[in-house]
Amino acid sequence: MSVENTSDRKRLMANLFKARFPFLYLSTWEEDRALSLIRSIAANKELIKTPRKVITWKITTGIAGEEAGKGDTKTALKALEFIENYQGPAIFVLHDFHIFFEEDGRQPDYQVIRKLRDIVSSLKQSPNPKNVVFLSPVLRLPHDLEKDITIVDFDLPTFQEIMLILEEMIEVNKQSGRIEIQLDEEEKEKLVKAALGLTLAEAENAFARAMVEDGKLSIADVEVILQEKEQIIKKTGILEFVTSKLNMADVGGLENLKRWLKKRNKSWLESAQKYGLPSPKGVLITGVPGCGKSLISKAISEMWQLPLLRLDIGKIFSGIVGSSEENMRGAIQTAEAISPCILWIDEIEKGFSGINSAGDGGTSSRIFGQFLTWMQEKEKPVFVIATANNISSLPPEMLRKGRFDEIFFVDLPTHRERVKIFKVHLNKRLKDPAVIGDFKIKKENLDFLAGLTEGFVGAEIEQVVINGLFEAFYEERSVTLTDFEKICNQFVPLSVTQAEQIKRIRDWANVRAVAATPREDRVDYIENNEEMSIGDDINSSRGGRTIDF
Ligand code: ADP
Repeated sequence: MSVENTSDRKRLMANLFKARFPFLYLSTWEEDRALSLIRSIAANKELIKTPRKVITWKITTGIAGEEAGKGDTKTALKALEFIENYQGPAIFVLHDFHIFFEEDGRQPDYQVIRKLRDIVSSLKQSPNPKNVVFLSPVLRLPHDLEKDITIVDFDLPTFQEIMLILEEMIEVNKQSGRIEIQLDEEEKEKLVKAALGLTLAEAENAFARAMVEDGKLSIADVEVILQEKEQIIKKTGILEFVTSKLNMADVGGLENLKRWLKKRNKSWLESAQKYGLPSPKGVLITGVPGCGKSLISKAISEMWQLPLLRLDIGKIFSGIVGSSEENMRGAIQTAEAISPCILWIDEIEKGFSGINSAGDGGTSSRIFGQFLTWMQEKEKPVFVIATANNISSLPPEMLRKGRFDEIFFVDLPTHRERVKIFKVHLNKRLKDPAVIGDFKIKKENLDFLAGLTEGFVGAEIEQVVINGLFEAFYEERSVTLTDFEKICNQFVPLSVTQAEQIKRIRDWANVRAVAATPREDRVDYIENNEEMSIGDDINSSRGGRTIDF
């Protein structure tokens, strides 16, 4: 897959060069890697038909080498004149040209912009093909040139590229004999896999650190590489690795959603392709706050044994780190490089609500478009879990078919689900026999507590358990059912104060979402499976369509 990516990337760029696209924009920190990619395309007759010279420009040195002749080409205008007059087939790589383009609160260099617009036709029509590539660590597009510039995604290094670096390092160290290498082929692959998502320079640093720490390189260093990667990714401020020990047994109820997820486990493997299955795109989980949306998102990572990346959508727009477009692009690239993985976008509505208001000059609209296009077209196995509390503010395009595979609604837990949630939290906390005393986590007690907590969300049930334990702790005795009963009776759940709001989101979900709770948990059964009706658990008053998976 990775090799294909490199050659796909080459072919795409070669086609843009051949088709005379005047300006390409490559946004990356990896100048050397980008330059060697451009050079390898420019020299490849099969790819590009007319091989071209690659001529670089920097503000410090002007046009590089003898190409420039005697003239001073350090200013942007002179460099552009040089490009205009150059006769041979060439690709001009201009480093850091973004400094001439507009930025918040700063005007662009209008002369440079004008000159760029003037040379468009000369680039398109010159007898020998000429293209310009802007190579810069930041993406900044001049408004007046938006139609003439094509942004080319510069993906993070592939498996093969990182493997090459590792093999080179191993070779160098073998010769010097300073570092002991204890890796077979399979272990080398694991090390490289751990470094996916890093730039070449970062991967090299991570390997170097792993080597010097104990004077050897072995499979144990996967941990060092992963730690290094976690740190680097955290520094971007947008993405974060979520390491959680939670699993599906920690989630009470929501069995329908769990089943749907279970059926899609391993769907990114080749064996799924035999069935003609596409990689799942993702799910949108909406619903009442505190009912386990974040909890289940974290548990998927353990169920599927895939890394979980959390995307902070607020930070994409915050302007604290980089431009919003770049942030989104960077996050997507990192997730794709690490794939197969899970990308969790928590409270997605915070980023994409109100995109139709003109408040931010259309930035959120553009990012939203960028995100939707990626969702629709993505081929890499990045499974997106988006969670949202306030769905009504989400733009309708987000909900259209083809974006998410399914939209689930997580409602207030039913009686049966409350039993399960109590069981999870009581089992989690009640470990010490002195605290447990005569209290038993048995069906009768759980049913009793579930009956007292109609309208409670999972987070509130957890609170009941904690507060009940405080009663016993304060009096230095073991806990009793009455402790929990007392707390339940005092507690005013949010669903009471926010009844209107919950009704509204249920109405919304009835039309658009599937219930995360399966049919069998939406009505209540007693031991011998006879139905018993409990006021709050009648199907019709709940949100989400019943489709059981
Ligand atoms: P949401 O993301 O829906 O707002 P969370 O997943 O953050 O809610 O829930 C907060 C906490 O409440 C969880 O960490 C967990 O301890 C408890 N909780 C909520 N729902 C459940 C559930 N279905 N099963 C077990 N615990 C739950």
